[in-house]
Amino acid sequence: MKYKTNNAKETQNIAKGLAEEVLKNNKKSLSTDKGAFVIALKGDLGGGKTTFIQGFAKGIGVKEKITSPTFNIYKNYKLKTNNYKLFYHFDCYRIENPKEILDLEFKKIIFDSKNIVVIEWPEKIKAVLPKNALWIKFKFINKTNRSINFLARKD
Ligand code: ADP
Ligand code: MG
Repeated sequence: MKYKTNNAKETQNIAKGLAEEVLKNNKKSLSTDKGAFVIALKGDLGGGKTTFIQGFAKGIGVKEKITSPTFNIYKNYKLKTNNYKLFYHFDCYRIENPKEILDLEFKKIIFDSKNIVVIEWPEKIKAVLPKNALWIKFKFINKTNRSINFLARKD
């Protein structure tokens, strides 16, 4: 599925819609029986990945304002949903070797089916990402337009 958005709010609304589907957990295409629900957000700098994640986090009930976890690689937030307990936001921009992420208990995080994990710059750690991650590609078109492309998900 491919969208074109005309402002940040529209991008956040698409993310909110996805959050609702993930929480319902009743769509075969979105449910996970193994491990965390992982979303890999790739594409242009300024493409709206963090903006999308802000809308998504709101949609799953995170009250804190989401900012990029520049120094810590990741931040996590408690969830009060039936299916999920923790929301993790990774920004792998600074990672040079996928092995670096494994030092951060990454395996434990993605094996836990109570987690929702969103990852910016997932290409940097592709080798250690689960095969069933949902990949979304962001493109900067102009000052206010972005394209958001949901890639096919493998199970
Ligand atoms: P990334 O994390 O991909 O580098 P950000 O979400 O941090 O991108 O930045 C996107 C910037 O572009 C924000 O300042 C946002 O307000 C602005 N913006 C303008 N139009 C859009 C749009 N249609 N969708 C998302 N962000 C937009
Ligand atoms: Mg970002």
